[in-house]
Amino acid sequence: MEQNVRSLLPSREQVESVLGRRVNELPPFPLVALKLLEITRDDRKSSADIARVVEADPSIAAKTLRIVNSAAYGALRQISSIKHAVVLLGVLEIRAIALAVTLFENIVRPGHGAAFDRVFFWKHSICMAALCRAMAQELRFPDPEEAYVAGLLHDIGKVIIDSYGKVRYGAFIAAAQDHNGALVDQEDRLIGLRHDDAGAYFCDAWQMPERLVRAILLHHRRFGHLKLNQEDATLVSVVALSDFITWNQGVGSVNTPRQPVLSPEVASHVRLDQLDLQSLMARMDREMRSTADYYGFGFPSSENFRESLLRANIDLGQKNARYFQLHGNLKKELETFSRLKESITRPHRSLDPKAILSGTLETIQQSFDFDRVFAMKVDPVHRHLTIVQAMDRTNLDVDLERLRIRLDSSASGFIDCLRSHVPILISGRTPDEVRALESLKVTELGVVPVASNNKIVGIIGVDNAASQDPLQLSDLSAVAIVTNELGIALANAKTVEEIKTRASRDGLTNVYNRASIDTFLKEAFKAAQSGETRLSLAMIDVDHFKRFNDSFGHLAGDSILKLVAGTLTKFSRSTQIVGRYGGEEFLCVLNGTDLEAALNYGERMRRKVEDLGHLLIKRFPGYQLSISVGVAAYEPEVKSPAALIDRADRAMYQAKQGGRNRVMQA
Ligand code: GH3
Ligand code: MG
Ligand code: MG
Repeated sequence: MEQNVRSLLPSREQVESVLGRRVNELPPFPLVALKLLEITRDDRKSSADIARVVEADPSIAAKTLRIVNSAAYGALRQISSIKHAVVLLGVLEIRAIALAVTLFENIVRPGHGAAFDRVFFWKHSICMAALCRAMAQELRFPDPEEAYVAGLLHDIGKVIIDSYGKVRYGAFIAAAQDHNGALVDQEDRLIGLRHDDAGAYFCDAWQMPERLVRAILLHHRRFGHLKLNQEDATLVSVVALSDFITWNQGVGSVNTPRQPVLSPEVASHVRLDQLDLQSLMARMDREMRSTADYYGFGFPSSENFRESLLRANIDLGQKNARYFQLHGNLKKELETFSRLKESITRPHRSLDPKAILSGTLETIQQSFDFDRVFAMKVDPVHRHLTIVQAMDRTNLDVDLERLRIRLDSSASGFIDCLRSHVPILISGRTPDEVRALESLKVTELGVVPVASNNKIVGIIGVDNAASQDPLQLSDLSAVAIVTNELGIALANAKTVEEIKTRASRDGLTNVYNRASIDTFLKEAFKAAQSGETRLSLAMIDVDHFKRFNDSFGHLAGDSILKLVAGTLTKFSRSTQIVGRYGGEEFLCVLNGTDLEAALNYGERMRRKVEDLGHLLIKRFPGYQLSISVGVAAYEPEVKSPAALIDRADRAMYQAKQGGRNRVMQA
């Protein structure tokens, strides 16, 4: 039997003794946040709830919309209501954003103190939330949203202490700066209460679920002796491991060079080798990017992360005499690093892969003063490298863009670079190397890998072909820091592209959603009005759909919608755009189509769905699937897209009246 978490919490007396006031005099947990937490995972039931809760607080609603409309979500057009946002991004995503905004505005932002930087703190919390959720999903933890909330709240004790503690957290941080030992032990000594104890105490008082309270309480502790059940232990481990990872990414909760300690239990509950850390971090990165503007994180700031991380490493290095040598190297690396600051942020300035690449090549050339810098791609079929972009300051007669570097034997620095993901100085060790150097007219060439999600996507080559200055391996290592950012930026660009597609599609059926179909129709309508092309619409509604839901359940209903959408898509041409217009209603925009052709289209769809119904009759005995179709063609007296939709809609209604499973025209 698991121990009740209450028995592990500090007592009220203990909490009150370190706070300047009584516990019940503290401001309550924001009501909106409580209501948001109550919203369930049942999408259909909650979409009305969430709009009601969020819109009841206009300031939270406006702030939520600000984040939803940020570039990173890539909405096709301005999202102006929470209802609309829910349709596009889903209940849980909107809940997560609104919850974070509410906590930030009500608990985190108020209060001040230079030593405890709350924006920095919140950046950690947002990263934690995103990472905890992603990790929970990957580990198949049953409630990833709970992991999200755990990440968001795991360090909330620090803010409470900073706002109400007799010893403020900011003052503690300033005083603790030069000490050794775990942070929580020092909190205990200096403040009289650890932040995990404080956070868990209040989350319990705010009536958060027990599992959540336990995760907050234990995220810096050993817990093997507590005999937690599998799921509880997983949530603790997810929070602890995410805390460790975010610190190592330079996004710790406070800016101190003190790595969190990872308890051995964590590794036994989370199989580290089974986690795709790269993709987890990419998701964390994306989440932070989409909210960075709103919270004032200022993105990109990876150079700050890496710099503080490097400083921390030096600090750790100094403490360990055996690594004296290493210390010297790191110090040198830090010097290079200051030069690199500009370069590191450069890849992140664009979302266009070509611009990302050319900007990065340019900055590498400027920071290191190479004569030539070029990006190479592997052609696996012909086994050679081709140069896709180059910055060339020399007057040498070498046509870089047409050059092919052959990879005949497996013995060469190029292969080492590709296989081991490390920078290599190529100086003519093997026949492949000699041939490459000759074709480039150099005696030395530096190659640095570009990896994205652990896969090599290319190689950056650098040389001093004109000046003949020798290349330094340490410079190549520094270039590797930049190409690492390049890989991340390229992966981000790809993700944003994917998010854009996702935002234009209906989540269930994968046909266009209402917002996109409206946009398409607006364009097509303009073209029809100007006489450029013909235009017709087909409004399609599933007959007696409610009966499927009622007799076979909602999931069966969903699968029918998917099948109907699939059939419509399969039998439509690329100029015939299918969208989901409402629950079981589809709208097809038929470009270049007159009334007669539109009627044919409608009839074809009707027949194909009827055929589908014959196929499904075994699964849904007694219920023959069919659709009713209303067709309308553009005519000059139709003045707006809405009026055209209305005509198609009325024709569809006539088809219903006429007995369903038929096509009618306006
Ligand atoms: P009619 O032939 O007159 O169109 O009858 P109908 O039953 O198809 O139409 P009605 O409008 O009465 O019912 C539509 C139902 O579709 C009601 C709603 O619960 C259900 N619905 C709407 N969206 C979804 C969805 O995404 N999934 C499922 N499973 N059902 C949905
Ligand atoms: Mg903590
Ligand atoms: Mg219907």
